Amino acid sequence: MDTLLSGGLVVTMDPDADGATGALGIIDDGAVGWTDGELAFVGPAADADPTAAGTVVDAGGAAVLPGLVNAHVHGRHTVLRGGAQDVPEIEWMNDALGPIAAHATDADGTVGCRLAAVETLASGVTTVCEYAERVADLVADVYRPLGLRVAATETITAVADDPDVGPDEPYPFDPDAGRAALERAEALFDAYAADPAVEPMYGPQALDMVPRDLLAEIESRSRREDRAVHMHVAQGDRERRQIEARYGAGATTVGVLGDLGLVSDRLLAAHLHGATPDARVRLANAGVRMVGCPSSIAAIDGIVPPLAGYRDAGGVAGIGTDQAPGPGGHDLRREFRTAAMLAKTDAADPTALTAPDALRLATIGGARALGLADRVGSLTPGKRADVAVFDLEAAGVAPTVAEPFHTAIPNLAYAGAAAPIRAVFVDGERLVDADGVRGVDAEALVTDATRRAERIFADAESDWRAAGSRLVADADAGRL
Ligand SMILES: [Zn+2]
Repeated sequence: MDTLLSGGLVVTMDPDADGATGALGIIDDGAVGWTDGELAFVGPAADADPTAAGTVVDAGGAAVLPGLVNAHVHGRHTVLRGGAQDVPEIEWMNDALGPIAAHATDADGTVGCRLAAVETLASGVTTVCEYAERVADLVADVYRPLGLRVAATETITAVADDPDVGPDEPYPFDPDAGRAALERAEALFDAYAADPAVEPMYGPQALDMVPRDLLAEIESRSRREDRAVHMHVAQGDRERRQIEARYGAGATTVGVLGDLGLVSDRLLAAHLHGATPDARVRLANAGVRMVGCPSSIAAIDGIVPPLAGYRDAGGVAGIGTDQAPGPGGHDLRREFRTAAMLAKTDAADPTALTAPDALRLATIGGARALGLADRVGSLTPGKRADVAVFDLEAAGVAPTVAEPFHTAIPNLAYAGAAAPIRAVFVDGERLVDADGVRGVDAEALVTDATRRAERIFADAESDWRAAGSRLVADADAGRL
């Protein structure tokens, strides 16, 4: 074995342990070892042979989990963190964030994405699903240089950023733009066909933003090649009105997706808060996977994503941090806590989404949602050595006891953001240690992002004022 992590509380999330009992696979005084980036040993430390390991890492006082999965991220927007929050969705997009985002360059976006990737990696994440136009640039310039595993979704849309039409008038389409995006997705599949660290996906942005014939083309290619389609589905009233305008009165997103053949186990549906419970059951029964973004949807729509309901319907779900403006950022420890707290509040029921549920969403749930559970999501021999080590001895997460039950599970789920990350490994390579992300000058990165944000916000000021969101009055009154 190359490396043996020994002496920690190992939480395997092994799907074999996650049967009728929902067991997490908890091993006291456990050990995890690997060879060439593949897990070779998971079990009690007493059963491991440390003399056979090249390196032994002491995990005493720590929890050892599968690396977390952040299943839906738009990283570029991180350069605009704090730029739009506490405003309704349409105002958020058109009047608050839009006028500022228009002044960000590609290079600004790359720096924002790097900040997102570093933040999420430093929270224990080993797999990120990035959703972006020209996503190949972010894979090559940001994610792979850091060593992160990435599910790369190429955004496919035929709608201009700010279509100037009323809510019941279909957006005008530019079919050539949609077609060019599909070809970028094809190039991505070709480029990474042999790389298990990069999993490309088609990303038709939403049903109302892609012409019907292009959706049919995506469906047929996805079926032929058994490729995933990652789409924002049933995002609320704006989409609902567009679907009725384009497909006729009474048409719904899930109904039209079904007609197009897109309701299948190849579909990864983000959000789903605009779908009825019956429609969600239909999706779950068809094997559609869900990703929920609790902080983002709470911040931008004031809505709780139906993660608990989707699980109750038998569906597979993961969670993602979406984008920084509004929800704040990409620390997945904060996100799984938020997922649980919002689900409890929404149902007025503290059992609605429990600590084990929250940790499962962030690990094996996310891996299943992304179609990567054969490689990651649990500490199972034969899977990749993607591992996160959380210090349980910090003031904000201690004390923990192992008898008569493991308080580390609720402590991680609800106070995990206070658990310092001791180490993160992807494919057995150590990317994070107690000093932070290896090879990254965090201070220089923050300085660069700040300089860029100052320029973007200064350039955008007159447009932002003219757009007139309520944040202008907040700023002028000294509240922001
Ligand atoms: Zn999104």
